[in-house]
Amino acid sequence: MDTCVYQIGNNLYVNMTNRCSNRCAFCVREQSGEYEGYSLWLKEGEPTVEQIVGSIGNPAAYHEIVFCGYGEPTYRLNEMLQICDFVHICHGKTRLNTNGHGNLIHGRPIARELAGKLDSVNISLNAPDEAEYNELCRPALGGAFEGMLAFARDCKNAGIRCWFSVVDCIGQEKIERCRAIADSVGIPLRVREMIHNE
Ligand code: SF4
Repeated sequence: MDTCVYQIGNNLYVNMTNRCSNRCAFCVREQSGEYEGYSLWLKEGEPTVEQIVGSIGNPAAYHEIVFCGYGEPTYRLNEMLQICDFVHICHGKTRLNTNGHGNLIHGRPIARELAGKLDSVNISLNAPDEAEYNELCRPALGGAFEGMLAFARDCKNAGIRCWFSVVDCIGQEKIERCRAIADSVGIPLRVREMIHNE
């Protein structure tokens, strides 16, 4: 059976889709079929809400339920929001790790739909300008960098606790330029090790 949830530390990660609008050079998808011993490619198709809820069990047993996995979770927006309701009913906490393309994927601003459902959102910034973003993240969608920044602003304006992340492999000079962008949007920047998708 496919791995639709996997535990790392005190968090439980939900793996909903193989679809992604980026093809980041540093992504685990580009390196192997496994992460931390879990095989994350969904060979049997995308899991249903019922399958995921059944696999989560008791959300309150974890620090957070994190929508992350091997693809971009906002492709499955409706299903993700249904699972958020389940997690909250069970007194758990929710987080989304996203490439920030949700508005572009759905053709509308989605942050207001996330408010109250996701307790926090981690948006991958990854590069300090469009050209470097396109080179590193190889987006399939036009306007991906600006779209990601707009999504981040929307999340902040919708009152969602959110932050940008960058991978440490981009180097200190780019990290500082990313920090300036994060400051201009008004949300924090976190630097993470180059180990995982978002
Ligand atoms: S790192 Fe995230 S956004 Fe980039 S290709 Fe992997 S899953 Fe997609």
